[in-house]
Amino acid sequence: MQPTVIDLTVASRNPACDNRSVLYHDYPGQHCSIAASLEVVGERWSLLIIRDILRGRRRFDQMQESLGIARNVLTKRLNRLIEADIVERRRYQTGPDRYEYFLTEKGLDLWPVLMAYLGWGDKYCEPETGPPRLIVHKECGGTVNDRRICQKCGRELEVRDAESIPGPA
Ligand SMILES: [Zn+2]
Repeated sequence: MQPTVIDLTVASRNPACDNRSVLYHDYPGQHCSIAASLEVVGERWSLLIIRDILRGRRRFDQMQESLGIARNVLTKRLNRLIEADIVERRRYQTGPDRYEYFLTEKGLDLWPVLMAYLGWGDKYCEPETGPPRLIVHKECGGTVNDRRICQKCGRELEVRDAESIPGPA
């Protein structure tokens, strides 16, 4: 009997497999950690979901309202992030059951990625009126640059030291 070879490239494109724990391979043949990261967080909406959770939007309805995406799409993306151990779901109410979503340590480790996107977007994509959001050091109120350094006290910050506030734009 011939061994069965499962073609994950084909399986990953089958919508029926979306909620299963299969590895997606959007970049087959790429032996590269950037490609490997994009396999996990390169899907449309994934980083914005992570951004929303970081900003304290932990409930499904809050994220759905913020992102304006279909509920089934948000459900799929959240499930994918949970499978990848980036997001975890915690029940905060029973009867009916309601859940909140939190970032795991693996998810929190994406903060530098988001900060790099933010810095790049501020530099190249935003109007001259200024950035729409600022990241500030909770302790001293200083703004944080794209290298995660507080511009007021000079400290290199971790994700829990900072928060996002509305910018001047
Ligand atoms: Zn500071």
